[in-house]
Amino acid sequence: VAADPLAEALARIVGPADCLTDPDLTAGYRTDWTGRFTGPARCVVRPGTTDEVAAVMALCAAAGQAVVPQGGNTGLVGGGVPRGGEVVLSLSRLVELEAVDPVGGTVVAGAGVTLAALQAHALAAGWDVGIDFASRDSATVGGLVATNAGGTRVLRHGDVRAQIRGVEAVTAAGVVVDRMTRLPKDSTGYDLPGLLVGSEGTLAVVTRVVWRLVPPAPERVTALFGLASYDDALTVLGEVRTAHAVLGAAETFGRAELELVRRHAGLAPPLRADHPRYVLLECEGRGAVEALARVLDGYPLVAETAVAVDAAGRAALWAYRERITECINAEGVPVKLDVAVPPTSLGRFEERVPEVVAGMAPNVRVLSFGHLAEGNLHVNLLDATEAEAEAVEGAVLTLVAGFGGSISAEHGVGIAKRRWLHLTRNPEDIAVMRAIKDALDPHGLLNPGVLLAPAADG
Ligand SMILES: Cc1cc2nc3c(=O)[nH]c(=O)nc-3n(C[C@H](O)[C@H](O)[C@H](O)COP(=O)(O)OP(=O)(O)OC[C@H]3O[C@@H](n4cnc5c(N)ncnc54)[C@H](O)[C@@H]3O)c2cc1C
Repeated sequence: VAADPLAEALARIVGPADCLTDPDLTAGYRTDWTGRFTGPARCVVRPGTTDEVAAVMALCAAAGQAVVPQGGNTGLVGGGVPRGGEVVLSLSRLVELEAVDPVGGTVVAGAGVTLAALQAHALAAGWDVGIDFASRDSATVGGLVATNAGGTRVLRHGDVRAQIRGVEAVTAAGVVVDRMTRLPKDSTGYDLPGLLVGSEGTLAVVTRVVWRLVPPAPERVTALFGLASYDDALTVLGEVRTAHAVLGAAETFGRAELELVRRHAGLAPPLRADHPRYVLLECEGRGAVEALARVLDGYPLVAETAVAVDAAGRAALWAYRERITECINAEGVPVKLDVAVPPTSLGRFEERVPEVVAGMAPNVRVLSFGHLAEGNLHVNLLDATEAEAEAVEGAVLTLVAGFGGSISAEHGVGIAKRRWLHLTRNPEDIAVMRAIKDALDPHGLLNPGVLLAPAADG
């Protein structure tokens, strides 16, 4: 096989061990976590410094070569894997973590630092990270920023956008833009860090960030209980919020998802009886146990509750919720719809989705679970043919738009949902996004086809 001159030039920048062309070595970078999205890569390049990222981007720009940035490859919308001969730019070697600034409550982290490593680093310094979710061991800071990730603690601390003070990034042309501000107040011009959060690798490559930390919770209590419906779940959530208990998380899943996770993960039933809906609440802060008990004890809607305060007990309860994603994958390749509707519409939405799906593809199974307080449901469709998947996806996302919801609550648009962008973003809005893309990446080399469809496709 003839050597590729571009790959050779890239290898001179990053070193031969970090420019991969062997299909066996690139395989793990070419297929996404779900197994649904896969494509050929020209090569995989793994720079070890911001300057190397800049040199790689400059070389690719000069060659007119498209680039797909990639972090931990846990994204669920096909945005981090190649589609047709792009260079995969893995940021996994940018693992610098500076000492925590105890006055500002911030830390500087490289794009390749995993969420779990960031959490461990913060905890060791007496702080915590306001973001958490199940793929923490692989998902990276750069990926979290690029997707504006959410997870289980948004209710308490906000999404990733709320955690980012400053960003260093490399443009498509290979220019380093340093906006590593640590200041909590800074009104000087456009919010470039805010713009890059959620840009899915289409505007610039994130290389470092200033991450705002949060105080660790002195006490935490986790409670799992069963209810009759979403409406009951929202009533209980409202009671807990009105009691001003400090809520750290409010998650939900149904009977079918519990059955699936028990079957694949070999878990015992969490409660004596079987219920249509399950809610996992976590309260934190001093007096958390008493605060939660005040609301739940003897509450007429809550028949029985499993409660844990120690780390092992809490992890055991979280497993019923956190392991659902991997257990769905164990059943087959899912079509994943990460949507949000106003929480008060969850009950009605949950009724309508199976009706819509059954009307179009009766064999398709629907599994949904998610973040109760934000109305963010992960709707998973199993056993759909490609044609069914497309039709059902369109119908469910149209339903979401009808409820005034979001077609992408936390995973991003990626490849998977770009054709449905018009459902919740009007033409003027999309035109502004295109203008921003054109200004930063005039030749369309950064993650082409992600988020915005190629201009010719409309
Ligand atoms: C079991 C499981 C549970 C999950 N739970 C949640 C959840 O609760 N909440 C949630 O929000 N997500 C969740 N996810 C999705 C996923 O983990 C997040 O989207 C995460 O932020 C992706 O990070 P990553 O490093 O793996 O990014 P990747 O998958 O590598 O990339 C994702 C996107 O970011 C871009 N990108 C990556 N790094 C950079 C960079 N340095 N600069 C510019 N662009 C970049 C890519 O091009 C791509 O478009 C879950 C995934 C799994 C597998």
